[in-house]
Amino acid sequence: LDTRALLDWYTANRRELPWRTDPDPYGVWLCEVMSQQTRIETMLPYWRRFQARWPTVGDLAAADLDEVLGEWAGLGYYSRARNLHAAAQQIAALGAFPDTVKGLRALPGVGPYTAGAIGSIALGLHAAVVDGNVERVLCRHDHINQDPRTPTVRKALWARAQALLPQGRAGDFNQALMELGASVCSPRAPECPACPIQATCQGQAQAEQLPNKPRKTKQPEVRGACAAIWQGERVLLARRPDTGLLAGLWELPGLDPFDGDEEPALGQALRERLGVPVTLGARLGQVRHVFTHRKLTLGVWSGAVSGALAPTWYTGAAWFDPHDLDGLGVSTLARKALAIAVPGVQGRLL
Ligand code: SF4
Repeated sequence: LDTRALLDWYTANRRELPWRTDPDPYGVWLCEVMSQQTRIETMLPYWRRFQARWPTVGDLAAADLDEVLGEWAGLGYYSRARNLHAAAQQIAALGAFPDTVKGLRALPGVGPYTAGAIGSIALGLHAAVVDGNVERVLCRHDHINQDPRTPTVRKALWARAQALLPQGRAGDFNQALMELGASVCSPRAPECPACPIQATCQGQAQAEQLPNKPRKTKQPEVRGACAAIWQGERVLLARRPDTGLLAGLWELPGLDPFDGDEEPALGQALRERLGVPVTLGARLGQVRHVFTHRKLTLGVWSGAVSGALAPTWYTGAAWFDPHDLDGLGVSTLARKALAIAVPGVQGRLL
């Protein structure tokens, strides 16, 4: 693989992204965490907002977790935001970013990929990265037919990426390989004639069949239900536990998954989780949401309580103006449900 040709191609073709002009560890770290499972175009406005609101890692460490989750709302995979916040506090306590891959890996939410990216791009370390793009380019270039998710092949890809690194330019090389995978060597219809490493590529004839990843089993379908409970103009939101799915986020109270009849299951869950009986009214509709591990259909009901709230499973419950939820960590799923429950709020929420 001609590393020189790849680096020259990268210099001529790279996208100008804000963390590339002056790569500091904080900006690169934010970018890497935000762009996991999320397209660059989608995460860019979030990256800019985080940078404007919390310009340094110390500012982020001092922020309230709820505020961070609020700014994160819409990006999904909220454990990333919680880890980001926890890691910022560790870095602030250390006084600086760790300057070794091992030190970076010790931060919450920082795996081998993120450590390699921050290390090579912002700290000049001789460290490789293998993300989905690099995996695709290497599997094609080296004509690797086995499933790259198996531990043996994964290990071999990391070793190969490490061995390819040119001295002193690991960061550029890693970004070049990732950018090549994101543009020219795309999953479908790669543009081989425009590829800087075509001369040595052994897999181009079968490019679209590589990498060879047998299909995963389908996500199970599950059902859930929630209720919009009103006090005048304000709606009741409840805060989920600090661990587990959508941890620490606010939502219309409810349950998922469940079997059987929706209304009694919801009524019982609300009584248990809010510590007060809830009278359910009409079923207002339902929303669909796809998580990585399951597909959820969530029924949305109206409801009323009389009596004091004493949340148990939920870590808090409070009344909110649904038109003013800025800064509150509300999951995308809960926003979809609110859009059904609150007339006229849809455009502001989604
Ligand atoms: S020649 Fe084609 S298949 Fe090979 S690395 Fe380049 S774009 Fe990918």
